[in-house]
Amino acid sequence: LPPLGSKAPVGRLDDESFSRYAGATRFQQLPISQKTKDGLRESKYIKMTDVQRASLPHALCGRDVLGAAKTGSGKTLAFLIPVLEKLYRERWGPEDGVGSIIISPTRELGGQLFDVLKSAGKHHNFSAGLLIGGRKDIDTEKEHVNELNILVCTPGRLLQHMNETPNFDCSQLQVLVLDEADRILDIGFKKDLNAIISQIPKRRQTLLFSATQTKSVQDLARLSLKDPEYVSVHEES
Ligand code: ADP
Ligand code: MG
Repeated sequence: LPPLGSKAPVGRLDDESFSRYAGATRFQQLPISQKTKDGLRESKYIKMTDVQRASLPHALCGRDVLGAAKTGSGKTLAFLIPVLEKLYRERWGPEDGVGSIIISPTRELGGQLFDVLKSAGKHHNFSAGLLIGGRKDIDTEKEHVNELNILVCTPGRLLQHMNETPNFDCSQLQVLVLDEADRILDIGFKKDLNAIISQIPKRRQTLLFSATQTKSVQDLARLSLKDPEYVSVHEES
């Protein structure tokens, strides 16, 4: 149930409104916040790609989505917009802590999606952090990780925080995203993913995107998604 009182969510999308937006072709037609619309427009995102058109109405309703579409088809915004909108509708603020975790296979891909988050989400007031290991100092990260609303991370680094950071708290998590899931599994992160999923709240929305639908992606989907909407797009674009 949504929280009561002043924190009551605004503009929750139900199944009825879903059908009204299922045929939208442009971002501006979607039932999303003006902040997100402005960020998209200023980033020159106008028309939705096929995977965005097919998945956004479901994801904005709060449904779990298993999305398969080839590299370059625009999967990043298909999950970033629902993340921004969920936290916005829940009136997420600094004191609410970690509201969304986005898992990316590599530092490089994590950095790219973080850049898209910064540009599409620039009018929102959420704090976001890129937790990808490498040269960045984990001790400084540990001090601040609980203040972040959106975590973009590689599986290894996230698990390191879950295991080592005192008071690491994701108990209020709203949306989990597994991006490029086939690559996450190819790299050998299956055990880490299972450990992560076992430590986060069960009541959440999960968005899983992948370029291919392998057997191991399906296994991961069974483990992490609830009644997912299957969106499979094979476009020539
Ligand atoms: P994928 O994750 O499916 O490989 P990305 O999300 O990385 O694809 O997007 C691929 C490219 O397409 C990026 O350069 C991105 O900026 C661009 N792009 C994504 N969605 C749109 C859109 N609706 N309109 C224009 N360009 C887009
Ligand atoms: Mg991608």
